[in-house]
Amino acid sequence: MARASIAPIFRQKYKVVMLNTRTKFYFFLIAYLSLFLYATVIDFTWQWVVIGIVLARIFSILGIDLGYHRLWSHKAFKSAKWFEYVMMICAILAYNGSSIMYVGTHRMHHAFSDTDKDPHGTIWWKICLYMYEVKEIPIRVISDVMRNPFHRWCHKHYFKIHIAILIMCLIDPVFFGHTIGAIVFGGFLFTGTVNVLAHRKIGYRNFDTDDNSTNIRWLQIWSLHEGLHNNHHHDASAYDFAMKPSEYDVAAIVLRALARVKIVDITR
Ligand SMILES: [Zn+2]
Ligand SMILES: [Zn+2]
Repeated sequence: MARASIAPIFRQKYKVVMLNTRTKFYFFLIAYLSLFLYATVIDFTWQWVVIGIVLARIFSILGIDLGYHRLWSHKAFKSAKWFEYVMMICAILAYNGSSIMYVGTHRMHHAFSDTDKDPHGTIWWKICLYMYEVKEIPIRVISDVMRNPFHRWCHKHYFKIHIAILIMCLIDPVFFGHTIGAIVFGGFLFTGTVNVLAHRKIGYRNFDTDDNSTNIRWLQIWSLHEGLHNNHHHDASAYDFAMKPSEYDVAAIVLRALARVKIVDITR
């Protein structure tokens, strides 16, 4: 049934998955940032700052770093089905586009790093918004996630889900501005800064990869683990980006803890 319903898509060489998303993306980003700024101006306390950073980090690690990046883009580990739903909820709130958009653009970035076909490009603001600038993803790049009805549903209804979230935020704009506003803002910034800086010949390289990727120590404090970008380009399917004793990867520590209680499988 599901296979029959996507058959026409697979007959196309390219599937347009990004069309008409840019305007919607800006609308929701501005709405969430307005909510975040409103809450910050109306009710600023350092407790809310700490809560916002902690929430943004948790949702970004579970949703983007584990779910979108290591599991669905690179298949670096296996996960219990129920935990995939948890990661998907976190990822949708962390506002990095749908899983299909993220996986497609990210795999193209790895395949064509620092070339004309690299969706991350070279202009910093385009890098932040890269997945909304790409109009077409070759279907072969995303065939696995396109076959998954759950991913297709989340992609199709991505912006409708955000309409529902925004309506819910209106119930208590100050509370949700401090929480959901911070999660969206953080998720967008954490990903954007790594994409902007980690191919700019700043930092150091452990491996002589065919691209300009680098590891940036100070970015590790901000990104917790994604700053080890050269290590990641060297072995994209490794669940742990740390490859020297002096390097650390918080997402890998989380994965090892989840593996201990059998929620994920990190063996290769
Ligand atoms: Zn990269
Ligand atoms: Zn990657």
